[in-house]
Amino acid sequence: MRITPADLIPDPLPIAEVIQPGAIDYAPDVRQTTPLTVKGEADRIEEHRGPKDVVEDIRIRASFVGDFELLCARCLEPISYHADQDFDLIFRPSGVDAEMGERAISEAETEIGYYEKNGLLLEDVVREQVLLSLPDRSLCRDDCKGICARCGGNLNETVCNCVETEVDTRWAGLQGFGAAAKSESK
Ligand SMILES: [Zn+2]
Ligand SMILES: [Zn+2]
Repeated sequence: MRITPADLIPDPLPIAEVIQPGAIDYAPDVRQTTPLTVKGEADRIEEHRGPKDVVEDIRIRASFVGDFELLCARCLEPISYHADQDFDLIFRPSGVDAEMGERAISEAETEIGYYEKNGLLLEDVVREQVLLSLPDRSLCRDDCKGICARCGGNLNETVCNCVETEVDTRWAGLQGFGAAAKSESK
């Protein structure tokens, strides 16, 4: 869905989109698994910067709901994630803030984005908002043991020999102690 300021005259444009899985390429470790419902409204905002200097902004207030599959940061197993979030963003025409430096402005006012001459693509906005809403680091479970750095085995499922070998050499003395303690407690 492409939105231009002309679409928002005279009335705001209702947004009711269903984005199918696969339509948006999020990131290598983020996959949309159910249709994503995006609902809201696009408005036109006039910024009067001078007597003849009017900037046409696009404001999008919307929400998205859908399910995603992420990868565990430790063991890389898929994790299901339910996304449900609102956003309220303003987009200025690209280049309008050039003399002030777009970077400086977007850092100060994080809610400001920019749209190109041919309009704003709702899918691009949704993609960015979904990625921002995801947890920084997702784990399949709090105590995920991750992957063995040597054999690549998932340590939640298997105890591989490489770990045992390492333990044997490092803790040889203590293991003998442990064995003695065990036999005593029997
Ligand atoms: Zn994990
Ligand atoms: Zn291993």
